[in-house]
Amino acid sequence: MKIADVINAQHEFFRFNHTKDTDFRIRQLEKLKQLISDNETTLYQAIFNDFGKSEFETYLAELSPIYHEIDLALKNIQKWSKRQRVRTDLANFPAKSYLVPEPLGSVLVIGAWNYPYHLSLIPAISALAAGNTVIIKPSELPSRTSSAMAKLINESFSADYLHIIEGGVEETTELLKYRFDKIFFTGSTAVGKIVYQAAAEHLTPVTLELGGKSPTFVFADCDLPMTAKRIVWAKFLNAGQTCVAPDYILVEKSIKDAFLQAVQHALQHYPQTPETEIDPLTGRYVQIINQHHFQRLNSLIETAQDKVHFGGNRDTDSRFISPTILQDITFNDEIMQEEIFGPILPVIAFNDLDEVIQTIKQKPRPLSCYIYSKNQKLIDKILNEISFGGGCVNDSLMHLTNGNLPFGGVGMSGFGCYHGKAGFDTFTHYKSILHKPFLSEPSLKHPPYSKWKLNLLKWFLK
Ligand code: NAD
Repeated sequence: MKIADVINAQHEFFRFNHTKDTDFRIRQLEKLKQLISDNETTLYQAIFNDFGKSEFETYLAELSPIYHEIDLALKNIQKWSKRQRVRTDLANFPAKSYLVPEPLGSVLVIGAWNYPYHLSLIPAISALAAGNTVIIKPSELPSRTSSAMAKLINESFSADYLHIIEGGVEETTELLKYRFDKIFFTGSTAVGKIVYQAAAEHLTPVTLELGGKSPTFVFADCDLPMTAKRIVWAKFLNAGQTCVAPDYILVEKSIKDAFLQAVQHALQHYPQTPETEIDPLTGRYVQIINQHHFQRLNSLIETAQDKVHFGGNRDTDSRFISPTILQDITFNDEIMQEEIFGPILPVIAFNDLDEVIQTIKQKPRPLSCYIYSKNQKLIDKILNEISFGGGCVNDSLMHLTNGNLPFGGVGMSGFGCYHGKAGFDTFTHYKSILHKPFLSEPSLKHPPYSKWKLNLLKWFLK
């Protein structure tokens, strides 16, 4: 089906109110859940073929969050879709006031490659729960994953309701020429700007889920072994190709050596050389997505060769980069100029917290920030002073698994948010209604106006 035909069909489907019925939405989400569940093997295989992601990691970071999001939506659709009463002020008495949630209409979801199922389907689930029609344009980089998803969805859902359009820059550029009622984009800041500009042409509201460099503070009073374990897991999951991975470490100078040791210990079960026989079920270390990204990361390590504290092993053919720790890094190093998005962890040791905070505040606002400490004053200082999308205290990455926490960036790491109720709201317009009975009509507000009416009005509206 041509892009224009799908878009027109979705506008028409929406116009005839098919998606307004909450029972319809529930049936569709149940069907989607069943479809994914029945085809897990196909989905595992596709993503393993694309970048060696194991069944374990795929279930953990892709399918389980999708099931969770569907379940949360199914449990709450009826409640979230209800009209909400709000107080009526005295000036409007007698009346009632309420909000009428309405779906925005036809939504375009553009996904990134690093969690291809998760980043395409979770926003789509929220959009469907809120009563929209959805076109998904997944990333073209994991091509087998995107084809597997497209085949499943397009064979099971009618194109006028939920449809996947595969492709890259050309197809996305074409899609962006048309009018949507909402565009939800996950990806780089550079492409986010392109999407935002294209959306402006139709005044289409946009949510941008972008990236950035997420700082991770490690203070001397933290539980060091547990801190190292949690950081290592969050950083090297998906071989560091995670938007909310700790991008770099800021560790208090007094514990720098102990921290590096603890990190090295926490890495004991990670491979240092390419795994020759990868088990699709448990193969625990993901490949770099393609040669372009492999070469980018390779050159970052080469530039910082004298600062490699641990790891640094690479294999071009299998696009393997072992977990790599860089020490004695400063904010001026090459590695600190762009989001790393790979398994390289630079460590900056600091003495002066205020100085570090000021440096971060002059940089683009990060998507995440993590603080490892038991000192509430230090934690509050960072929470109050640094602006970032979201984060954790004494953990990394896990904030996005709590459906009650809206997930999104701020400044250059994006705007708008999703997950749970926040996702439903992202794809909903709340119509504000003042509902009056035909009881009486104050003559005060009607002409002819006079001095005494003005005085009375001022007193009344004070
Ligand atoms: P990307 O911006 O290159 O691609 C994202 C999407 O945009 C893809 O579907 C791609 O086909 C499309 N695209 C690429 N170039 C385009 C162009 N010129 N015109 C129109 N469309 C275009 O991003 P990526 O490499 O897929 O993902 C990596 C980035 O995404 C990182 O910066 C990462 O931090 C960020 N990210 C953010 C989140 C989040 O939730 N905030 C999640 C994952 C990734």
